[in-house]
Formats: sequence, C-alpha cells, structure tokens
Amino acid sequence: MQDLIKNLPKQANDKHNENKKFFTKLKKKAPKNLDYIMQELHDDEFKKTDCLECANCCKTTGPLFTDKDVDRIAKFFRLKPQQFISQYLRIDEENDYVLQSVPCTFLGADNYCSIYEVRPKACREFPHTDRKKFQQISNLTLKNVAICPAAFNIVEEMKNRIK
Ligand code: SF4
Ligand code: SF4
Repeated sequence: MQDLIKNLPKQANDKHNENKKFFTKLKKKAPKNLDYIMQELHDDEFKKTDCLECANCCKTTGPLFTDKDVDRIAKFFRLKPQQFISQYLRIDEENDYVLQSVPCTFLGADNYCSIYEVRPKACREFPHTDRKKFQQISNLTLKNVAICPAAFNIVEEMKNRIK
C-alpha cells in the first residue's frame, strides 16, 4: 500500500488530462443512472480497500470543520467550542476552520482515528465517490485521485463503464 500511495501523485498527474476531458464530457451529459453507478463503484472499491492500511487522507489533507462538527467534537472532549478551536484549529484562506497541522492530530500511529464516532462530516464523506450528482464535484475529484487510491481506482473504473 505504501508504494501505491507514493506513486499516486505521479499516476494521477499522468491521467490528469484524460480525467479532465472525461469529467467535462460527463458534466455535459451524465447517464441517468449515474448515482446508481457511483454507489456500485464506490461499494465495490471499498470492499477491497482497507483505509486502516492507508490513512493518506488523514496524513496529507485535513478536513474542514463545520460549526456542527466543532460543537460535537468539543463536547466529546468536554471543552467549550472556543477552547477546542484555539487548541486545534485555524481559519484558512477561504474562511473555513481547518486543522492547525497535518497529519491530523487525532490520527494514531495505528492509523485509527481517536475521534472516529464524532469525526467531521468531511471525514465521514471522503472521498465523496458515493455522492449524488457526482459530476458536480469533478474539480475536487481531480485533486482527490492524487491523494486517495480508492478514488483513483473508482475514476478509472468510471471511465471503463461510462463511454
Ligand atoms: S479514504 Fe482513501 S485516502 Fe483515505 S484512508 Fe481510505 S483509501 Fe486512503
Ligand atoms: S479526524 Fe479522524 S478521520 Fe478525520 S482526518 Fe483526523 S484522523 Fe482522519
């Protein structure tokens, strides 16, 4: 898995133009059953993928924290939201709360998340490959295929399946 993750940015870069073309076409005309196809591709891929062997998302890109995430996680730590924010978060260029540093503070050496039950929504949903109207987040997906081996494989499978 580690070799795969190491090579992923280059592999994603090699596929970038092809992927971009594919998503441009998909945005113009998506199959009617795209949500269904994505759910199937997502489920098949994650049956084979062990995120605990990877954790590359947690190591390289932190999630956004919504106000609801902050309230829930602060409560978990028995902190006031403002205390949680000053201890762990910063505001980024887009005015969102993000982690002060990556790898994520809550990631253990065994790749387990210490706040798994209350983790941010963005972590629960990453890499968003089972999202409805998947074509609408193609710019994000073009970036995610360089981080997430599962997203990379799903996009490759999409290109085989949707001509
Ligand atoms: S979601 Fe993707 S990047 Fe994150 S741990 Fe799973 S396979 Fe790795
Ligand atoms: S909160 Fe948990 S799931 Fe989210 S990035 Fe940190 S370790 Fe990963």
